[in-house]
Amino acid sequence: MNADQLLARNLLSALTNGGVEPYFQPIVSLDDGHVLGFEVLARWHDPVQGFISPEQFIPVADRFGLLDRLLDQLMRTAFLVAAEWPHHLFLGFNVSPTQLRNSELATRIAKAASDESFPLSRVHIEVTESGFIEDLTQPRRTLDRLISLGCVIAMDDFGTGYSSLTWLSTLPFSKIKVDASFVMAMCEHRQSRKIVAAVVALGHSLGLAVVAEGVETAQQADLLRGMGCKLAQGYLFGRPMPAHHVPDYLSAVVPPADDTELLVPMSLELRAHRLAEACESDAAAIAFMDPAGTVVASSTAFDKTMDVEKGAAAGRHIWELIGVTPDTIAELRANDLLDQEFPELEKSTANGSMARILIRPVKDESSELLGYSVEFNGSQNPNSAGVVS
Ligand code: C2E
Ligand code: CA
Ligand code: CA
Repeated sequence: MNADQLLARNLLSALTNGGVEPYFQPIVSLDDGHVLGFEVLARWHDPVQGFISPEQFIPVADRFGLLDRLLDQLMRTAFLVAAEWPHHLFLGFNVSPTQLRNSELATRIAKAASDESFPLSRVHIEVTESGFIEDLTQPRRTLDRLISLGCVIAMDDFGTGYSSLTWLSTLPFSKIKVDASFVMAMCEHRQSRKIVAAVVALGHSLGLAVVAEGVETAQQADLLRGMGCKLAQGYLFGRPMPAHHVPDYLSAVVPPADDTELLVPMSLELRAHRLAEACESDAAAIAFMDPAGTVVASSTAFDKTMDVEKGAAAGRHIWELIGVTPDTIAELRANDLLDQEFPELEKSTANGSMARILIRPVKDESSELLGYSVEFNGSQNPNSAGVVS
């Protein structure tokens, strides 16, 4: 038996008898330091060899097919302990590309969450682009399935792989994590600083949340803030800690300024999924559009109100459906910048009826604009038009 086989065998028995436990590292807002969630990191303490680093055992676990078992165990333990923590906090789990090729992964994750009554909307999945993968069909399917269940997908270690940009354009990420190596070199090397600034800008222009990893100094945090980066993780804010340290940690740090905004760590996909789900029931006439005014998701009742076929509103501009103009979108943005609510509209719909329409911005956990929700309030007065006070 070679060293790797021995390591794999020891890991398997550690997984069976609780020798591996989840540690939790905070991910915080750079604006005010409040905690948004935790990355879950595996910690293996062997009774004979002592602490064994993930850098050492994760690649071996991957080769020996043990990562699913590891993930399952970490998830179940983490879901259980996190049930006591504030409900806006998400948990981020590491999943290797090998695992994404398994068509059962999403089902297993869903089962672990439902067994422990943990909402999948609080589960973030971090995928590292490790090596070259020829066929992204199954990984994409797995990630789509996880998104349809409500999970948020993050691209880990951004910038270190061969084809980060290809991945970004092919797989449905809504968050990127800038690799620690760039962040750590940022203060000494102009090149790294430029890379980080470019990644932050690229991420934001694509509507993605951007997390800077490996933030160890206040100087790095300041530079990142200057670049407009909103989220960070690193020793400056907290090291990975065992579950029983988390409540004390949370009570010592800044509480969220407005936790209603943080209740749901949101992605565009999640929001669309929520809407689709809420609306299967015919209950609400509601749609979600991207910042440019294209409908991304709409409820059955919305489609009916618009007099289009089920699902046919998606992909169309909102001004083709309700009596607004492209300028309305510009107005929405201006109102948002000024922190003013957009007034309720009363408009005629495609089928000739009148409706009160509420348009509200939808933002992610870093206050980035994801788009707008469009909700019909059902008033049917055919004689009035225009903005109502
Ligand atoms: P990662 O996903 O990039 O996780 C972040 C790593 O950076 C963690 O190392 C964390 O302890 C370390 N770190 C966080 N902040 C700082 C900082 O300010 N300075 C420095 N120097 N390091 C910081 P860790 O826990 O040793 O994990 C290493 C890698 O092993 C992880 O990198 C991840 O790729 C993998 N890993 C860990 N746990 C799991 C797991 O449960 N499943 C899988 N598939 N991979 C895991
Ligand atoms: Ca990670
Ligand atoms: Ca990382």
